[in-house]
Amino acid sequence: MGSNLGDRTANCMLAVSMLSAFARVTAVSSVYETEPVGPKDQPDFINCAACIETDIPPEGLLAELRSIEDALGRVRSGRWRERSIDLDIVFYDGLIMNTDALTIPHPRAHLRRFVLEPLAEISPGLVHPVLGVTVSGLLGMLKGGERVVKTAPPSVLFPQKPTGY
Ligand code: ATP
Ligand code: CA
Ligand code: CA
Repeated sequence: MGSNLGDRTANCMLAVSMLSAFARVTAVSSVYETEPVGPKDQPDFINCAACIETDIPPEGLLAELRSIEDALGRVRSGRWRERSIDLDIVFYDGLIMNTDALTIPHPRAHLRRFVLEPLAEISPGLVHPVLGVTVSGLLGMLKGGERVVKTAPPSVLFPQKPTGY
């Protein structure tokens, strides 16, 4: 997830709490401040990652994520522009799918330090089902890229003790 408008960390915290209303949050990452990818004339982002358990299939999960984005006041001002919250599905078990609405794994996640750093913190050994490389392996393969700095511990995001983590 990412936010670069308003109280960015609070937006992520609220998003995690809204996820926990319908799914079991099993892990959350630290909070990271990151340089925007794409247009640079916008504020830095706060990014973090969460692992959830749910019976909801991918399309339904995307709809849930969208309604959280709407509830947190996201205005759709164009791809890669500033937003109060962006919630993407990076992986869904080992699922590979590609429809108009949904590509899983997220097609750009493996190229983004702001995705891989938080993800490597909670799931370093998770294997990318298309590339056959672990998250920590993908992170090691990244060269340079945008700035990513840890700014707060996971407890800021999810004050409850994550179950099963
Ligand atoms: P990026 O996809 O590069 O991270 P973005 O998150 O800014 O860009 P959005 O405008 O939030 O892009 O979403 C555009 C569309 O991407 C959504 O309407 C959704 O249908 C689609 N989409 C495809 N795959 C995914 C995925 N794995 N997670 C979330 N949205 C996805
Ligand atoms: Ca995104
Ligand atoms: Ca998105």
